[in-house]
Amino acid sequence: MIRVSQPVTGPEELEALKRGLEKAYFGHSADVVELEKALAGYLGAGERPVVCVNSGTAALHLALACLDLAPGDEVLVPSLTFVASFQAITAVGAKPVSCEVREDDLLLDLDDAQRRITPRTKAVMPVHYAGNPGDLDGLYAWAAERGLRVVEDAAHAFGSSFGGKKVGAQGDLVCFSFDSLKNITCGEGGALVCPDADTARRAGLMRGLGMERPQATQGGPPSRSAYDVVTQGWRFHMSNLNALVGLEQLKKAPAFFARRQAIAKRYDQAFADVPGLSLLPMDYDRVVPFLYTLRVLQGRRAELIDHLREQDIETAVNYPANHQHSLYQGLATAPLPVTEKVCGQILTLPMHCALSDEQVEFIIAQVQACLA
Ligand SMILES: *Cc1c(COP(=O)(O)O)cnc(C)c1O
Repeated sequence: MIRVSQPVTGPEELEALKRGLEKAYFGHSADVVELEKALAGYLGAGERPVVCVNSGTAALHLALACLDLAPGDEVLVPSLTFVASFQAITAVGAKPVSCEVREDDLLLDLDDAQRRITPRTKAVMPVHYAGNPGDLDGLYAWAAERGLRVVEDAAHAFGSSFGGKKVGAQGDLVCFSFDSLKNITCGEGGALVCPDADTARRAGLMRGLGMERPQATQGGPPSRSAYDVVTQGWRFHMSNLNALVGLEQLKKAPAFFARRQAIAKRYDQAFADVPGLSLLPMDYDRVVPFLYTLRVLQGRRAELIDHLREQDIETAVNYPANHQHSLYQGLATAPLPVTEKVCGQILTLPMHCALSDEQVEFIIAQVQACLA
């Protein structure tokens, strides 16, 4: 089976884990701090501190917790996203307000979002679908005019750029995921890029059960002797073992990302003339694709999925619309016809660094054979 997504690790990650296991402490200490510094350096984050946590969902949860939302405050979010975006919003007692995406690039439709704004609307959570941050300048100007905070769900967009800067290098709160399938992985993990040191200090406290205590000793466990609890917090810290894997993956990021971009460019070129396919308008010189998703028109998606499965090619639908899940149905306000339409069209083809050129050509040939 050619998998739709899979992590790529090698002897370097294995060595790193071995080194980690040989230390007497696996929790959060020096290796996590090192990963935070390395991520900040890679992103060109400057004065924007990076806070590592144990998942992308936790990063979103902490980012929202930093906004001091009151129960019932509303956060605008595209319905077309991984359910983690929604769960993070409800986890802090806020209400996710499902918005439409634009049909062509599957990014948040600001005109639609505008119509859903109420006096309770406090923040917007754009989702950088498939790795595309879209027009971040336009988004931030729009949010600023309306007095809204921004929490970027950049889980797909680690390594992508906008305006010559990496996603995360600028903006408000920017959240990444390093789960098993993302552009780089820690095994499980996530990170939150904060707008200032004070926010990072708060996020740092909240990721560790709100416990304030003396500085960790170099490389060893944090002092257990004295601490005070100063805020609501969660058990969201990253383990040193995950950080060590992430540090190795980060070294490989340039090669990984070039490979992902090359595969996406080849797909785009091959599918441009296939009837019944609509490609996302992506600039793969600045976007690192997490997913390669296209729209299958004319109701032929099921047929294509079946054909590819028969050829041992796995595909996925990213994602079912969140406003249609049982938990969120009661929240739905105005209808979301565009989202419902594109959710019936989108199909994700295999995209990962373990794909060989031969496999990419095989996938292309099978898509062409089915639809031509
Ligand atoms: C993966 C993902 C997340 C959550 O990240 P985890 O590390 O899996 O918790 C959030 N949003 C989107 C869009 C994602 O794809």
